Amino acid sequence: MKSKINLVTGGTGFLGSHLIDNLMKQGEIVFCLDNNFTGKDENIKHWIGNNNFKLIKHDVIDPIFLEVDRIWHLACPASPIHYQSNPIKTAKTSFLGTLNMLGLAKKNKAQILMASTSEIYGDPEIHPQTESYKGSVNPIGIRACYDEGKRISETLCFDYHREHKIDIKVMRIFNTYGPRMNLDDGRVISNFIVQSLTNKNLTIYGDGNQTRSFCYVDDLIDGMMKLMNSEHNGPVNIGNPDEYTINQIAETIIKLINPSLKITNKPLPQDDPLKRKPDINLANKLLNWMPEVKLKEGLKKTIPWFEAELIRFNKQQL
Ligand code: NAD
Ligand code: UDP
Repeated sequence: MKSKINLVTGGTGFLGSHLIDNLMKQGEIVFCLDNNFTGKDENIKHWIGNNNFKLIKHDVIDPIFLEVDRIWHLACPASPIHYQSNPIKTAKTSFLGTLNMLGLAKKNKAQILMASTSEIYGDPEIHPQTESYKGSVNPIGIRACYDEGKRISETLCFDYHREHKIDIKVMRIFNTYGPRMNLDDGRVISNFIVQSLTNKNLTIYGDGNQTRSFCYVDDLIDGMMKLMNSEHNGPVNIGNPDEYTINQIAETIIKLINPSLKITNKPLPQDDPLKRKPDINLANKLLNWMPEVKLKEGLKKTIPWFEAELIRFNKQQL
């Protein structure tokens, strides 16, 4: 069978680079497109020079024409500190970036998977969250540039599907962690691991009773591949339903790295959702997908990577 040409936007980022590893190992052709806002070439450097791989420095808010078969549209900063650092740019990336990629899908008659998020449910009133829940987002809050950005991205996908028959896949990704998150990513698992490895107090925002459900990156990418290869347009939740309070996450990481570490409480950011857990019955039924990696197992695969990254970073500073 002829290899497909895959465009991965956000390809030098955390999830994008793992997706690229998967596609390259399957013998596919990959165009990795990124503006390196939160991504870095280090994440994909092992593919540079491979004939099946091309790196394109580009910002998705500007149109681009390429011949492709499938578009995996992941470009968008995902960590609150990064997407809030330039909120208008985040909104532009979500709206214009998705519009440009849908236009490209239309020109090529290509399939397109859009990386949406559990954030479209906002601070949810139902628990766990099913795909039929319409969400509770504050449209004028500090998270809105991202949450509403992803909501309009979903709207655009479905309008292109209805009007132009584009084969869309809308994937609602829940909190995911693993190797290749940036040291300064700012999301909770990477913060707690980096703080523990550098003997700092762990920063818990609020009382730490808010919950999240964390998926290991390999499971997430497996779900992403299954959704793209399916007949379904979505939206489909992909995440691990094992739910923990942030206090429990801190305790678990401290125990694994250094039990003598302490906690510092900081204010809970505005609109920080109090609970989150995916209902994954749809993914299980439609895609036969189920996450396999338990939290402790995933952390044990992630911590050594951060240790190595800290050594690399310290060497660079010398
Ligand atoms: P990340 O920040 O590591 O990766 C995002 C990538 O997009 C980076 O490489 C960044 O440089 C690139 N990018 C940002 N703006 C761009 C622009 N305007 N043009 C071109 N490239 C741009 O984040 P991630 O965790 O890998 O997330 C990837 C996607 O998955 C995002 O769309 C995010 O919203 C979605 N998602 C992730 C999670 C998660 O827990 N990781 C949860 C829900 C949704
Ligand atoms: N959080 C925390 N300490 C940190 C980083 C995050 O207590 O150093 C909390 C944050 O307030 C939220 C949860 O952990 O309640 C998950 O935050 P993250 O930024 O990882 O993801 P999101 O809020 O987007 O789900």
